[in-house]
Parts: sequence; structure tokens; C-alpha cells
Amino acid sequence: MVSVRGTQPAARWGCASMGSEAIAIRTDDDDAASALHDAWSRLVWNATDPALCLLDPHGRVVAWNPGAEHLTGYLAAEVVGRTFAYGEAPEDSAAALAAVREAGRHETEGWWPRRDGSRFRASTVITAIHDGDRLAGFAQTIRDATPRGEEGGQFEAVALILDLALSTMSQGLCLFDADGQVRLLNQRFFAMFAAAGGRDLVGMPVAALWALAFAEPDAGEGAGAALLAGHEAGLARGEAVVVPTPDGRAIAVVRRGVPGGAFVVTFEDVTRQREAELEIIRLAHHDALTGLANRTMLWRRLRESAEGGRLPAGTALLFLDLDGFKAVNDDLGHQAGDALLQQVADRLRRVLPPTGLAARFGGDEFALLLPGVAGDLAVSLAEGLLIELARPYAIEGQRPRHVTASIGIAFSEETTSPDAMLHQADCALYAAKGAGKAAWRPFTPELQIERSDEERLEQDLRHAIAAGQLGVAYQPLIGLSHGAVTAREALLRWTHPGRGSIPPRKFIPLAEKSDLIRVLGLWILDRACRDAAAWPDQARICVNVSVRQLGDGSLPRAVQEILKQTGLTPRRLELEITETVLTNSTEGIVDDLQLLHAMGVRISLDDFGVGFSSLGRLRAFPFDRIKLDASFVRDAVERPDCRAIVGVVAELGRRLGIETVAEGVETPAQLAVVHEEGFTEGQGYLFGRAVLTAPAA
Ligand code: C2E
Ligand code: CA
Ligand code: CA
Repeated sequence: MVSVRGTQPAARWGCASMGSEAIAIRTDDDDAASALHDAWSRLVWNATDPALCLLDPHGRVVAWNPGAEHLTGYLAAEVVGRTFAYGEAPEDSAAALAAVREAGRHETEGWWPRRDGSRFRASTVITAIHDGDRLAGFAQTIRDATPRGEEGGQFEAVALILDLALSTMSQGLCLFDADGQVRLLNQRFFAMFAAAGGRDLVGMPVAALWALAFAEPDAGEGAGAALLAGHEAGLARGEAVVVPTPDGRAIAVVRRGVPGGAFVVTFEDVTRQREAELEIIRLAHHDALTGLANRTMLWRRLRESAEGGRLPAGTALLFLDLDGFKAVNDDLGHQAGDALLQQVADRLRRVLPPTGLAARFGGDEFALLLPGVAGDLAVSLAEGLLIELARPYAIEGQRPRHVTASIGIAFSEETTSPDAMLHQADCALYAAKGAGKAAWRPFTPELQIERSDEERLEQDLRHAIAAGQLGVAYQPLIGLSHGAVTAREALLRWTHPGRGSIPPRKFIPLAEKSDLIRVLGLWILDRACRDAAAWPDQARICVNVSVRQLGDGSLPRAVQEILKQTGLTPRRLELEITETVLTNSTEGIVDDLQLLHAMGVRISLDDFGVGFSSLGRLRAFPFDRIKLDASFVRDAVERPDCRAIVGVVAELGRRLGIETVAEGVETPAQLAVVHEEGFTEGQGYLFGRAVLTAPAA
């Protein structure tokens, strides 16, 4: 508590004039006058009303009474000794004092802030205090003139709304004076910055406030100043600069100047907004399922690494496609398929060099970009991946699943553009898939020519059915014990309008690269069953089925429907499946074959001997017949090893109770061998070629 004691003789004070009433303590007794004066001083300076303030000639506060403390909320200890600019801009305050010097008295009125952030209408009177001719200082009375009642209601309402706005605004707000010291803070500011909690921040310099808000705890004002300097340019332009807090939030800060040099800073927590923005950016560039980059991102990276539209030599781009993924998806549902894709992504991430980028293009297609020198790793990476990706996949509630990958690799040369790179990797992948599963192929210019030739042919094949270009040729199978026709194999024939007859060995693998094989497969099945139903004899009809038609239950359903439609008895239909089915681990394939078998349809294992299958797996499949590949039959007469195989397969058939067919029998000598070894049926040019005409009645 500050009080001013009269240190001058009372008679001197008697000359002082304060306001309109002169203080006149006149007595002849000097001691009495002094005591009275002291009492008077105490009375005035201890009064809680009115608010009084005494300034020295330079405008510094020398006394601040309880009335002033009560009215403004500021304690004497906070005010005394400071230049008086409270409630007004310093220049206004200086002007007021100049006016007092001139006229001896000056009145002001205006809205002043209280320490708690509220405001009041201050009506002040400043009076000069003279000691003789010398200016001793100024006395100021401050009265609360906040309008009340009828005419004042409006002001009060506005003030209340302002208070309310400040306290409820979603932004933290801080008002600084022209010296860069805190003058006013709203509640939101304290809620936003825990470090500010419970502290009196009024008078704090702006740099210290920045340190408190944005620097590590206990970092000094210097840290705040450095942070502030880093954002000064943006703040000066009036932009919202986003400043991170040590606890990981993002705060948008805006600074606005107020006439007179003061300024207001607002703080808004934009963490969620920032996160959402980042998430949108991330989503736009990433595959949601696997978290890998997406096609857009890969494309961007590829373009960014190009200079003048050309990629630096050595960059490698790998395209990967899973073999056997569709079956997992179809058998176990999308959830299992998704789980498998996520594991594939994890394995890719594990092998990826730090500078590389892994992407998923959707479905079961992936890509790896290896920029610059990382491109040297492409081949070893591809070889490693073939093994890595073929390892079993654990899927909840299922037994481990297997898929393999085909990989195409493009290497950039000095002239390769990003566009060309994508196309080349695609071409190489196409070649890898054509080479059989679990293979990698580099791009070569020949591939491009082949590819476009194949693409054209595939397009033509798609239209071949509707255009009536497809036909079925039938080749007889002969019972070796009696020499009569026991079955006929249906073989697809395609007469291309421009290129003539195209062999199935060329167009079937093409169709097998896509779902086109399913369309063709159903077409020939339907045609063959209809034809067979009209045959005069009871020969079986053998139809080739690709592994790609199996595994999702659709073939058994289609067969049932076709048999119903054509009236063919199931036991007359035989489906030939190549040996690769044995190496395919998809459960659905066995299920489909079992279903067909249960319907009475026969199943035969085609091209036996060329597919390195394990004989052990034979038992898992319901085969009724084994067709030994023509290559063994051809050489059986001259080569003892081939003859031995013919013998072993015949014996295998007998042991398993399965009938055996020798394919490609062209000569009587070959016939003699297979007959001697005990084959039950033969097929080959010796008995008849495949012909398009229906068997004569
Ligand atoms: P495949 O199933 O092994 O069919 C037998 C192939 O050997 C046929 O060739 C047939 O004309 C030929 N061939 C028969 N006897 C002899 C012979 O004594 N000597 C020689 N050198 N060849 C003989 P094609 O018609 O060119 O069919 C080739 C392959 O195309 C078939 O081999 C089969 O794998 C596939 N294919 C044909 N039609 C279809 C079909 O409708 N669906 C599926 N998925 N594949 C088919
Ligand atoms: Ca066949
Ligand atoms: Ca065959």
C-alpha cells in the first residue's frame, strides 16, 4: 500500500491547489497543521473511493490509492514507478499531461480495461500540483462513469457483448501494447496453453509469451524470440502462420496492428484441421488398404525424378502381379483377400531400399520404383521377392494360403520418359505372366512388338465368338482292346478373318491371361455337349478345361446347367485338366473337381509327365483317367527311358484303378508299345485327326 506523506511544511501544501477546491489547512499552530495534514493525507490516500493517482512531473506514478486498486484491479505495486499510460495510448497520455501543464487542469473520458479483462468508462480529472512556481507533479482522480440505467444500457450491453465475445471466442486472444507487452488475455488463451495456467501474464514481453506457448517448457525468452523471428515475415503480412507446439499441436497465429502501435494476436488450434488436411493429402497419394503409395504418387515420383522429361539412366521400375490371388478372394471373401494384400505390402516394404517407393495400383497389382543407383538392385530384388512373396500367408481362421508373383522390370536409359517407363514395365510384366507364374522378365524392345501383336490378337479373339469365327473339331480316342471309338476330344478352332487359322497353342495361352478363357471355356463346353448329345454312338465327349476356370464354384454350376439343357448324361462328359492343376495349391480347385466328380462327370489328367508334378498329390484329386503326354509316346520306340516311363504310367494307372490314354500315337510301332505296356486307350493321327465335321450317323 502506497501512501504519500507530506514531507513539506503544511503552509507549502496550503498553496497547492487540487481541482476546484483548494486544500486550505490554516492554523497558527505549525505542529497542529502538520498533524492535520498527515491525517488528511491518510484519509485521502486510504480512501477506497474515489480512485486517486499521483504522478511525478515526468508522468511516473508515485502513488496509487486503494480506490484506484479497487476500480482498475491493478495493485499499487504493479503501477507505481511506471510511466502513466494506463487506459490510453502513451501519446494521448503525454498530450493530456501537456494540456494540464498549459491549463492547470484537464479532463478525459474513455473506455479503460480492467486487469481482469473487463472494461469501464473512465472519467478522469488531472490537476497540476505546484510547489511555488515549480511543477511538483499531477493528481488524477478516476471515476467510474460506466453508463447505468436507461441511457447507459446500450453501452453496457455492448461492453457485455464484447466481454462475452472475448471469453467465448474459439481463439485465444492476446492484446499487446505498443511496447510489446501483454495488456489483455482472454480465457481461451489460458485454456490453450497449459504453461500459462494460473500465471499473471500482464506486462509479459511478446517474446516471453511465444516461448511460453511454443517453446519447450522452461525455454527462455530467447527461444521465443527466435521462434517469433522465424514467423515474423508471415505475421507481418497478416497471414495465419501455423506454429507447432512441443506437445504436437498446430496453432494458427494471426497478428493485427491497432492504431497507436498496439497489436492483437489471435491463436487458433488447427491441429484437427491440419490432421484432416494431411490425411486428405495422404489419401490422395496412398492406397487406403495397404498404406503404400498409389498410382498417382508413383507417377508423381517418376515425373519428379525426370530431368527435362527424361529419367536418369539406371532407374528401375518393377511391376508385380499376384498369381492365384483371385482364387483366394473368390474362395475366402474380400476380407481374407484384403488381409493377404496387406501382408504382401508388408513384405514389399521390408525389402524396399530406403530410396525406393512401393505402390499398389489396385487389385493385386503392385509397383516398386528404384531411382538412380538403387536400380542396380532390381534383379536381385525381383529374385528375392519371387521367393519372399511365395511364402505362405497366414489368414485368420484359415489354413495358410499361397500365391506367387510375376514381375516385369523396366530400366531407364538416357532417353526414357516416365510414360515410356510405365509402358515398358507393363510390357515386361505381361511377358512374365506369359512365361508362367512366379517369374520375372526384363523389358526388351522385342517384347513391345510381341505385346502389341498379342494385344491385337486378344482384341480379335474377344469378338471371335460373336463373329462366328470359332469352331470345334473332334478327334477320336480308341479303345485299345477292341479298336472302337470310345470318346472324342473337342478342340477349339479359330479362323481369323485376316490371318487364317490360328493354332490353339497360340490363342489359348492368350485367353488364359485374362477371364476370356472362361468365356471360351463355357462356349466350347456348351457346343460340345450339344453335339455329343446328337451323336449316334455313346462315345464320351472330352472337353479341355483351363485351371483358370476352376476354383470359384462357377464351373460345376455351369456344367450342371449345360447337362440339363442338352440332356447329356454326366458320365459321357469328361473334363481334361492339365497337370499344372497339381502344383496349384488353391483349395477351391479340388472342391470344384470333387463336385463335378460327384455329379458323375469324369475328370482326366492331361499332358501327364511334362509338368513336374508330385505323384503324391495325384491322390488328392478325383481323376478317372491319365493322358500320357505325346512326347513320351513319340520317343518310346527308340528311347528306352521313354519306354520305361510309358510302362510306369500304365502300372500307376492299374494300381490306382485309373484308366490310361496314350496321346500322339502316329505309327503302328508306337501303338504296339502302348498296347503292350497296357494302356487302355489311344489318341493320335494313326486313328484320326481332329475334324470339324460331325461324326456320320
Ligand atoms: P491337347 O489337349 O493335348 O490336345 C491335343 C493336341 O494334340 C491337339 O492339338 C491335337 O490336334 C494334337 N494331336 C492329336 N493327335 C496328334 C498326333 O498324333 N500327333 C501330333 N503331332 N499332334 C496330335 P490342338 O488342337 O492344336 O490343341 C492344342 C492344345 O490346345 C490342346 O492340347 C489343348 O491343350 C489346347 N486346347 C485346344 N482346345 C482347347 C479348349 O477348348 N480349351 C482349352 N482350355 N484348351 C484347348
Ligand atoms: Ca486335351
Ligand atoms: Ca494332351
